[in-house]
Amino acid sequence: MLDECDYVVNVPKFKTHGLTFLTGAIKNLFGLVSGTYKMELHKNHFDADGFSKMLVDVYIETRPALTIVDGVTALEGNGPGTSGTPRHMGLLLAGPDCVAIDAVLAFAMGADPLDVLTTRYAADKGLGIADMGSIDILGERLENIVDRSFKLPQTSMVTKIPRPVQAIIRRLIHYYPLVNHKNCTGCETCVKICPQKAMSKKDGRIVINYYLCISCFCCQETCPCAAIDIKKNWFTKMIGL
Ligand code: SF4
Ligand code: SF4
Repeated sequence: MLDECDYVVNVPKFKTHGLTFLTGAIKNLFGLVSGTYKMELHKNHFDADGFSKMLVDVYIETRPALTIVDGVTALEGNGPGTSGTPRHMGLLLAGPDCVAIDAVLAFAMGADPLDVLTTRYAADKGLGIADMGSIDILGERLENIVDRSFKLPQTSMVTKIPRPVQAIIRRLIHYYPLVNHKNCTGCETCVKICPQKAMSKKDGRIVINYYLCISCFCCQETCPCAAIDIKKNWFTKMIGL
């Protein structure tokens, strides 16, 4: 189907994301992957590292001619679903380089652009510019768009650790979903979307089979009631992330 298009125009919203830190230009292209195959990709690339590399592969295949980001009202905190909080940023970004656009979005969040793994891996492959000093920006000055009080997703706290150490301890850090039964209406949206079939309804309550769960946070992303909380294992708590 993409082969039949002359150009792809990519129109993401500016949101945080539990697994990939940022839902921006590159992550948005995952929407081009068709239904059930999307779930397969989630299953096969379940950690932030593998999932981000897969997203970069999707970017290589699609390479939009133009990306326009709606960042007028962004989503901060534990986005991209209803667990995030809308925040007025007043930003509209457009350009042909998804790597540069995502770098600017991360900068606007007060984060290091290379902490967003899709940006880092795409830049490593020479697919775009992630160095803020080398990006040509027209319009608003960069220092005017950064918002240091922007709330980053809880799962991104691992980026506070020096990068060489991150690679070692990432395996010990674990975030997982927990159903907040006070908010849950039992709609079963999460049950239908879970790529691992790890969720089910038992005696009227949603339960998660943690032997199957891969912490992809699709359930959190799609829950219409902010009823999926993100919890951390003892090690993650112990090191204060
Ligand atoms: S999607 Fe949310 S509200 Fe619906 S059943 Fe799942 S946890 Fe409950
Ligand atoms: S329970 Fe949620 S986080 Fe776990 S695999 Fe299913 S959708 Fe992903």
